[in-house]
Amino acid sequence: ARESARLDVRTRGSEALHARAVRSMTSGVPSSYQVRDPWPIYLTRGLGSKVWDVDGNEYSDFHNGFGSMVQGHAHPAIVRAVTERVALGTHFAMPTEDCVVVSEELARRFGLPQWRYVNSGSEATMDAIRIARGVTGRDTIVKIFGSYHGHHDYVMVSIGTPYDDIGPAENMNSLGYGAGIPRVVVDLTVPVPFNDAPAMERRIAALAAEGRLPACVIMEPAMMNLGVVLPEPGYLAAVREITSRYGVILIFDEVKTGLCVAAGGATERFGVRPDLVTLAKALGGGLPSGAIGATAELMEAVASDRVKQVGTYNGNPLTMAAARASLFEVLTPDAYTHLDRLGGRLTAGCDEILTRHGIPGYTVGISSKGCVHFTDAPIRDYTSFMAHQNAELPELAWLYNANRNVLMAPGREEEWTLSVQHTDADVDRYLDSLDQMARDLVG
Ligand code: PLP
Repeated sequence: ARESARLDVRTRGSEALHARAVRSMTSGVPSSYQVRDPWPIYLTRGLGSKVWDVDGNEYSDFHNGFGSMVQGHAHPAIVRAVTERVALGTHFAMPTEDCVVVSEELARRFGLPQWRYVNSGSEATMDAIRIARGVTGRDTIVKIFGSYHGHHDYVMVSIGTPYDDIGPAENMNSLGYGAGIPRVVVDLTVPVPFNDAPAMERRIAALAAEGRLPACVIMEPAMMNLGVVLPEPGYLAAVREITSRYGVILIFDEVKTGLCVAAGGATERFGVRPDLVTLAKALGGGLPSGAIGATAELMEAVASDRVKQVGTYNGNPLTMAAARASLFEVLTPDAYTHLDRLGGRLTAGCDEILTRHGIPGYTVGISSKGCVHFTDAPIRDYTSFMAHQNAELPELAWLYNANRNVLMAPGREEEWTLSVQHTDADVDRYLDSLDQMARDLVG
């Protein structure tokens, strides 16, 4: 209560804007993921690792636009590229040279030769699934239970499911995430638990026996929407082997991991190559972006126009200029060395605080991404997350952070994202905030 009251006092300007906003914008926000009780913090600007709100509070930004800003705010290379580009025209719906350069670089980083563009992660996963369905002629798809892949109907299934409705690993329930998703679509999306290759194989075999062999498995190689849950050793290789053996297309949704955990994303980091990869968020340096990379064999379906992959803003010149600058001037090998080092320090520092104060939990980190799991047991999938993750401490940690000038993505499913412009001082701020909370908790 004390932390909430403190935040309220610090953010009166946001309160006033929110009171005005609800009159013309539903819930006072552009997107439901921006709802925040009692009101969202209104930001005015960002520079480097920092953002400022309308009340003049400065925050070290660990939210980073849900991980879109691994470059940090207003990075000079991106500002330059976008400023130059905007003066030359914003949109043509015709390709520019930047699209070619970006495709060549993504092909090099991800080991997949053919690329197409969209404007969000949702569009990327939607088009990737359509390609898989178009190529195989099959309708059913497999996803990981609890995994978020965007807001279109194919994948708004079995996320945020109440614990009682999860069902056994063998036959987890397909449940629409919110109203408005047709049951016929929900039934086409079959969930399996993360980190359980035998369960995936049994489910695919059972579907095949019913004459419903899936078109694809879509998954995050490291789950980023349950905090961070890493693949256990051998899991991704087993998934690769199973999907290949059954002729099921493997899609890695790297919307959160791609460009954030290594130059070539989780694909590079874990050394397992999918048939299709989806990118978004960090690709555009803060501009709406998305990409699909695939083998030439799969993209032949698009090249022949059998599968439609279209969109007015695909390959938008501003986005592509930002992506080019990001890939060549910002997300360099040195940048990943920096992110790995800072991420390692933050992860180790959080673990040390939890241990020192006897707070149940542990920290997971992979380069720029990480989180503290406040839990009494390891989190390896959605079921263990729901059973063991403390529901209140992540919320309290968010408040402690906000009151100590650390901005985090709200919600216990979210993780931090460091940017290439973060410094040790930002990490210290985060650690000081967690230490204060731990001290207050244990008295
Ligand atoms: N895939 C993953 C793994 C995501 O985390 C998200 C968004 O958080 C999406 C897809 C959807 O991306 P967007 O919000 O850009 O549509």
